Amino acid sequence: MDVNQFKERYVKKFEEMYAFDYKEGSIREQFLTLGYLIKNMYAPEWRQTSDTYLENKSKQVFYFSMEFLPGTMLKSNLLNLGLLDTVSDGLKELGLNLDEVATGEMDPALGNGGLGRLAACFMDSIASNGLAGHGNGIRYQYGLFKQKFIDGNQIELPENWLRNGNVWEVRRENKAVTVRFGGHVTLDEDENGVKRPEYHNTMNILAVPYDTAQVGYDNGVVNNLRLWSAEIPYGEEYLYPTDEARDQVKQITEYLYPDDSNYEGRMLRLKQEYFFSSAGVQSIIRYYKKMDLDWSFFPDKIAMHINDTHPTLVIPELMRILMDEEGLSWEQAWEITKKTVSYTNHTILQEALERWPVDMIAQLLPRIYQIIVEINRRHIEKKIPLYGEDLTYRTAIIDHGQIQMANLAIIGSHSINGVAKLHTDILMNQTLHDFYLMYPNKFNNKTNGVTMRRWVQISNPGLTALLDDVIGTKWKKAPNELVVLKAFANDKDVLKRLDEVKLNNKKKFAKYVQEEMGITIDPTAIFDVQIKRLHAYKRQLLNVLHILDRYSFIKENPNTDIPKRVFIFGAKAAPSYHYAKQIIKLINEVANMINNDDSINDLIKVVFVENYGVSLAELIIPAADISEQISLAGKEASGTSNMKLMANGALTLATMDGATVEIHDYVGKDYIYIFGMTNDEVQTLNENRTYHSRHLYETNPRINKVLNMLVDGSIPNTEEIGQDIFDSLVKYNDEYYLLQDFDSYIEAHKRADTDFKDRMKWNKKALMNIANAGPFSADYTIHRYADEIWKMKPGEENILLQPEA
Ligand SMILES: *Cc1c(COP(=O)(O)O)cnc(C)c1O
Repeated sequence: MDVNQFKERYVKKFEEMYAFDYKEGSIREQFLTLGYLIKNMYAPEWRQTSDTYLENKSKQVFYFSMEFLPGTMLKSNLLNLGLLDTVSDGLKELGLNLDEVATGEMDPALGNGGLGRLAACFMDSIASNGLAGHGNGIRYQYGLFKQKFIDGNQIELPENWLRNGNVWEVRRENKAVTVRFGGHVTLDEDENGVKRPEYHNTMNILAVPYDTAQVGYDNGVVNNLRLWSAEIPYGEEYLYPTDEARDQVKQITEYLYPDDSNYEGRMLRLKQEYFFSSAGVQSIIRYYKKMDLDWSFFPDKIAMHINDTHPTLVIPELMRILMDEEGLSWEQAWEITKKTVSYTNHTILQEALERWPVDMIAQLLPRIYQIIVEINRRHIEKKIPLYGEDLTYRTAIIDHGQIQMANLAIIGSHSINGVAKLHTDILMNQTLHDFYLMYPNKFNNKTNGVTMRRWVQISNPGLTALLDDVIGTKWKKAPNELVVLKAFANDKDVLKRLDEVKLNNKKKFAKYVQEEMGITIDPTAIFDVQIKRLHAYKRQLLNVLHILDRYSFIKENPNTDIPKRVFIFGAKAAPSYHYAKQIIKLINEVANMINNDDSINDLIKVVFVENYGVSLAELIIPAADISEQISLAGKEASGTSNMKLMANGALTLATMDGATVEIHDYVGKDYIYIFGMTNDEVQTLNENRTYHSRHLYETNPRINKVLNMLVDGSIPNTEEIGQDIFDSLVKYNDEYYLLQDFDSYIEAHKRADTDFKDRMKWNKKALMNIANAGPFSADYTIHRYADEIWKMKPGEENILLQPEA
């Protein structure tokens, strides 16, 4: 399609849809027109892809995830279809602007943070690698809450993202399945003496799929993301005579739980988990039967991957269907299930590990409960002779009246992976050591990755153009080609152009900050960015302590020559996470104080953007100079904002945690600012029990001064929270060791200040980060999943090779 054809089709489509001239259309209408037009264009390939998979009986992977955080899809689809320039030019000739039209799309916030974003990057990479893989999740009516600040406090508003419809989805009512809850089960013998479960008084919910195309990059592949919505089954409306009864059904897919890295033990959450797990497994089984193969081939044709433990009920559900509905024996069903399912662990935080009370599962899912009990019984029976009672009971699925979902996921699958080398090591040597002794071959590492299409090509067109010009375009399909850039590390011209690209991105963000927040920031200042969920372990508070330290230094040394800094935060706190909300309030009050202090010559500004999400990430990341990855070592499983920022030429200032360890190994110590304790040092400090934060407070003058600011009235409007935060650090012994890492954190920032003043030195470091970001492309991550876990082959042209650090 050329520009003229596009223009013609666009104008025609608009008139068909709205019956007036496109020039009078609103942004929203222009976006919808473009969306439907593009959907028309990939529809044939979508159908073709799915027909081909069925004809070839290709192996397919189904990625089960409670969350998908895709961001807006217009530009992503255009890029992958190879139409970005055509459409951009065509719209321009029509007097429209693609960037403006793109603002007509809502950003579907169907995830909390890293876990949901990973699922979305994986969908893009699976399709772009030419693999047959699909997503399976929930179509939440409301996405993650919209965040507002009122008097510096976080307020949560509903996110009605479907208000104006969703162009990309297709409702497939004819593919609906029924999910049963509650009631009770009896096991009755049939004529052959085989026990068959009979369900009585169940509540039946209709699961209706909404499909969204996942367009591969320039390869003609279009996979599927299937999100399920809960409805009352046809003909059963009379069973739900009141609003209350009808609400019980609707509720199942109404809200995304807004907790990140925190276990939510409520019944509705359990319903959600079973709802999408069961619906997904049922639709896969129905599909498999179309291939007309023996059940024993199931694991050769189907892989089911569970993103964390939220979809673990896939395991007993698959067992249930194979036995109860398809008549397989326990042994046959168990072999198939284990070979089909694989599991990714995302956290070692105790408070995030899922465990459901036995009573809740027994009541809500009586048949599933029976199956879990039997899996557990057989596990114990089989392992005691091999490993003894102590170890075996520590791996039990049912313990103290609770069902341990991670244990079920490990026992019922053939693979468990961590998401960065350090994280996997901690799983094997500490958290899941008992399981590692039992199943050493199930454990493996798959370091996370990010799609360079969204995080470089779409969000940073300036850098993309520079790269294309300097190293050619190969990196777009083979991100490791970015290493070619290293040859230009001392090329003054390239470094200068890189500087210009960054400056332009910073100006663009500064404009947003001016217009939306009324804060003026200098684009030549260091943009120091920390964007991620607000959590104590991520230590946004350590960042604040540095800001306060710097602020008091400048007050005392008004003629200092340190470079200007803009501290940029983006973070939502779980609505029930009191401490995290106090930190938000603190950051906002510190921002107010500093931004309005004329005596510091704008040497510091603090910007806390409201409602951080994928769209804001796309604006902030290309503008970042420093990437703050400052979690306590051992706590962050991987992190992915670290990768996005690196790929955009930000320098990482970090602890040796998560995938940042691997970033350090690839980029080299001269191009990253590492500080703080290592995981081993943290372990030692934990074991010795010799940490006394009060001692540091009393003996370290710098720490003393900064902490006193929290309680002596220095920061307006923080009377209530200042004391609580102070107490967490001094009275309650600073659980995340902020004070222990404080000095080395400050030192790392000093090194960055010095380096930034030498522009060419800094730009070289930025260049080296971009050049070493290739290995963190999700295309490689997915290649390793496919090769080592799913046992799938990508299309021939998509074989990717990974260099060593
Ligand atoms: C990448 C991303 C995250 C993950 O950030 P981390 O710093 O790795 O925790 C969270 N939210 C959004 C919107 C993202 O794009």
